[in-house]
Amino acid sequence: MLTAPPEASVGVEETLDPEDWSALRQLGHQMVDDMLEYLHTVRERPVWRSPSAEVRALLREPLPRAGQGEESAYRDFRERVLPFATGNIHPRFWGWVIGTGTPFAALTEMLAAGLNPNVGGFDDGASLVEDQVLAWFKELMGFPRGASGLVVSGGSMANLVALAVARHARAPFDVRRLGQAAAPKAMVLYASREAHSSVTRAVELLGLGREALRLVPVDAEYRIDLAALEQAVARDRQAGALPFAVVGNAGTVNTGAIDDLCALATLARREGLHFHVDGAIGALAASSPELRPLLRGMEEADSLAFDPHKWGHFPIEAGCVLVRDAAAHRAAFAATADYLARLEGGLTGRSERFSDLGPQLSRGFKALKVWMGLKAVGADRLGRVIRQNVEQARFLAERVDDHDELERLAPAPLNIVCFRYRGRGAAGTCDLHALNRALLVELQESGMVAPSGTVLGGSFALRVCITNHRTRREDLQLLLHEVARRGRALLALEG
Ligand SMILES: *Cc1c(COP(=O)(O)O)cnc(C)c1O
Repeated sequence: MLTAPPEASVGVEETLDPEDWSALRQLGHQMVDDMLEYLHTVRERPVWRSPSAEVRALLREPLPRAGQGEESAYRDFRERVLPFATGNIHPRFWGWVIGTGTPFAALTEMLAAGLNPNVGGFDDGASLVEDQVLAWFKELMGFPRGASGLVVSGGSMANLVALAVARHARAPFDVRRLGQAAAPKAMVLYASREAHSSVTRAVELLGLGREALRLVPVDAEYRIDLAALEQAVARDRQAGALPFAVVGNAGTVNTGAIDDLCALATLARREGLHFHVDGAIGALAASSPELRPLLRGMEEADSLAFDPHKWGHFPIEAGCVLVRDAAAHRAAFAATADYLARLEGGLTGRSERFSDLGPQLSRGFKALKVWMGLKAVGADRLGRVIRQNVEQARFLAERVDDHDELERLAPAPLNIVCFRYRGRGAAGTCDLHALNRALLVELQESGMVAPSGTVLGGSFALRVCITNHRTRREDLQLLLHEVARRGRALLALEG
């Protein structure tokens, strides 16, 4: 008979599991009920309100040395966090580019956290789910089956991964071993002036330096000026630099402009450049047969970044990168270490590890929400909801154009409308820049509507980006009404 050594019987061995499973089960049911009710009634609440002074103070507690218990922690969530949400789940939120999420996809997050796998590439169901999600996205985006890919945190990480692959594949030296300092020529890449800040940040993080990113002018539609791009490439070659990549936009963040991706693909091939497409906003429009033609040329990209957590409405975080040349993808990131060695069979039996395709080793089960969400809704319905937003944007743009106090500031080819309050006639006398900035803050603080802002051609614009499956046309009519009403009042104050 085995007898425990005396020291092992001393003290109680603890776990973080609940003491009372039935109490936790009850609390869990309550949490599900409360959240579904909250989502069901979201339209009845303000879009956003600023966290109260009281709550700000309460959220500066000292480190809890002793636990307060699950129920009490949940109560604090309900009182201190829930009422002060960003608002992007609300039908009248149109700021920046933020998806709405869905109730079902929210539930799937609980399942991912419950299983809590590390999706670095073990031979398990989670890896197969991510394989499946990537295969679906390759099909949707027109990429070959043999392409590689990775589910990542968002468009920023997708751009970083893609540009790291481009840089590694095109560097005429071993950049992983020697670093960028060993480059015999300055490596440079191109994007339009409307490219997203995450492209710039990726270039910085890769050690290329921000100036390596040549920001090319745009045409009147905010698309990259192809002649200017060609000239820039020629100029750089002449000056002894090494052009290695060009980034096309499938939906710019300011106005939703889509570069001529076919022309960019042709130019990239001719110039021997890696062709990356930032489709964080627009790529998922490929799920709509009516919108898909707008994206022609995207399927020719060497890499594509896009954001299921934006127009796909999967909970944040869910981004994705696809890379045409799977070997190049792997070569840019694969790592070896004794503690990671792959064996024949067992947990490490899989041939491809996700951790060899990006900077992360431990990786969450982000693919689950996308897998279950897509299965539940289907790509066709997602495409219809995306198209609905584009039609709503067209509706809004027309109403703005017809309104004698409003002025549209950019074309609206996709789901983004930029405009400002101008007033009738004598607009020249007042500072429209300041007026519209004040108007935007007022709109957000009203809790009624939440657009964001940007600057176009030197003018401050109210920017309405409709990545929202809850929006109805009457919500946009309310927006127009509020902009005109409050704009008029602000103009009267000035005048
Ligand atoms: C949002 C966005 C990104 C960055 O994506 P995140 O998911 O926010 O990291 C990149 N490019 C464009 C065009 C975007 O709109």
